[in-house]
Amino acid sequence: MIQILGQVVLKESRRWLHKPLLLTPRVDSTCGIAPASAAVNAFNEEANLPSRMNAGVPSYFTSLKPFTGLFATGVPSLMYHKLGRRPWGVRLKGLYVSRPLFERQLSQLHATGFTTPTYGPPPLLEGNPDKSIALTFDDGFANVFQHGLEPLAQHGFCAVIFLMADLIGGCNGWEMQEGEARQPLMDEIQVKEWLAAGHEIGSHTLTHPFLTRLSLKKAGEEISASKKKLEDCFGRSVRHFCYPYGDWNPAVRDLVVAAGYETACTTEFGVNTKATPPFELKRILVRYQSISFKALKERLARTRFR
Ligand SMILES: [Zn+2]
Repeated sequence: MIQILGQVVLKESRRWLHKPLLLTPRVDSTCGIAPASAAVNAFNEEANLPSRMNAGVPSYFTSLKPFTGLFATGVPSLMYHKLGRRPWGVRLKGLYVSRPLFERQLSQLHATGFTTPTYGPPPLLEGNPDKSIALTFDDGFANVFQHGLEPLAQHGFCAVIFLMADLIGGCNGWEMQEGEARQPLMDEIQVKEWLAAGHEIGSHTLTHPFLTRLSLKKAGEEISASKKKLEDCFGRSVRHFCYPYGDWNPAVRDLVVAAGYETACTTEFGVNTKATPPFELKRILVRYQSISFKALKERLARTRFR
């Protein structure tokens, strides 16, 4: 018996030893790699919140089942970054959602009756009787255009993508300076096709800075000039804002309000209810399941006592 158990443990250990251990960086859920010294980063606090407030609910979304209860208590807003295969050398692997996983997620949501009404302020009703959900993409990566449009259309879902007005057709320089692999961003033609497919765009500033680290004047320019620039470029009203890195404070929020936006989304975990302030919308990060040391330990423990 002991020998059999030993073999199982050894087999499991070998399996995992041959896989790279994908440790979850503390702030990997940001759209970009936040330096450890980030003065204000909602994700640092968010990382431990779900387990405290929503027992049994994972801290990020991979499949619908564990979120069924939570999604009935308010309108969820899923936060995607990149779609498709991860290129070699990527640091934040979890932010790449493969196309098959993305298709599976949309399929589950569709089959369960979720729909994507026009993206906007928090719901007026209690709970989520209409099974509404928001699909958001941060940063405007070209791989979202490449892998996202078809599955979204297949399930009749609409999404909003948050763009940096000065980086249309550029690349993820704010991530590359932290050592991340280069990824192209959607160009003007792709954004126009995104809009023509019925999706929406929002502002993610001009250049993806930490807004609370800028002077109010500079932060205000990032917030209001990006709105105007996107509107001039694409001929659409840009009504929604997304704080880069989830970095905001009341002064930054007030600048977003003053610039004429209708909502702003954060990276705080949770669903949105009628009590959620419209400039502090919550979201749930989507990423693929990675294995942490804790999960590995638990897995081995389960195997040992099975
Ligand atoms: Zn971002």
